Amino acid sequence: MAPHTRAPGKPFLTNMKIAILSRNRRLYSTQSLLNACEKRGHDVRVIDYLKCHMNITSHNPRIFLADEELSGYDAVIPRIGASHTFFGTAVVRQFEMMGVYPTNESVAISRSRDKLRSLQLLARKGIGLPVTAFAHDPKAASSLIEICGGAPLVIKLLEGTQGVGVVLAETRKAAESVIEAFRGLQANILVQEFIKEAGGADIRCLVVGSKVVAAMKRQGKEGEFRSNLHRGGTSEVIRITPEERSTAVRAASVMGLNVAGVDLLRSNHGSVVMEVNSSPGLEGIEAATGKDIAGEIIKFIEQNASATGTRTKGKG
Ligand code: ADP
Ligand code: MG
Repeated sequence: MAPHTRAPGKPFLTNMKIAILSRNRRLYSTQSLLNACEKRGHDVRVIDYLKCHMNITSHNPRIFLADEELSGYDAVIPRIGASHTFFGTAVVRQFEMMGVYPTNESVAISRSRDKLRSLQLLARKGIGLPVTAFAHDPKAASSLIEICGGAPLVIKLLEGTQGVGVVLAETRKAAESVIEAFRGLQANILVQEFIKEAGGADIRCLVVGSKVVAAMKRQGKEGEFRSNLHRGGTSEVIRITPEERSTAVRAASVMGLNVAGVDLLRSNHGSVVMEVNSSPGLEGIEAATGKDIAGEIIKFIEQNASATGTRTKGKG
């Protein structure tokens, strides 16, 4: 499942009509994409996807923003929030059915929002991962703990984001209680080996097409094992190894994502993929690396968007 890349030598498309699907035009990432589109001469607009409605028909799929019909777009850049995956991906799917090129397809965004599904897909292709276990029945708690090699362990809500719902259980007793409590609330969780040697740091690789265009190390604040910038983590530019580079590109490709934030942990058994994000934030990584990532994303669209460029056309 290699991301579709134009044959070398094909001209860059110019003067495109592009929609950024985002709820808030003031967000840094949205602004950065907007500026990059304008700088490169495209006609661009931010659309709040929650305000869209659509018709479900085989002949002439259409999409509207209030009374206005949205037509004539060459490409959409989905920036779908984690709490609106269901409706947001439906909007992206509708654009796909209309033949509009999305930077990330709806099916790939949906996949990336489910941590278990993502890890299964990555494991299937032999990508290195932290040892991970999953169960429905709370009685399986002790088996999950065994599989992951005992405490300390990380326990994660399947649909958490920004570090919320990621818990470090230092002892076996704590792990059992947390698993039982989450399962008692019907929450879906996965249990994972704690990569202690990562030292509260991870590596965010920003993949565009088949390249890592920027990488940064994120370090959790003192006493915090979670490195999320939203939790007070700090970032700095880092050199990644050729293996890390190829792991990140392969992980994005397995997920079917053209634009992805691939998070790696440096473990004793090599660098492992912890997570693949389909709407990676641009602020931290543009600031840490000084790279124009939004510009890279727009260049990728210019090279790859075409009337037939959508692989799934809304399928799946
Ligand atoms: P979220 O989607 O909420 O960001 P993550 O799975 O990325 O959830 O976990 C949040 C942070 O917790 C990571 O950035 C990393 O620093 C830390 N972390 C997650 N899993 C592990 C693990 N297995 N071992 C060590 N640290 C981890
Ligand atoms: Mg994360």
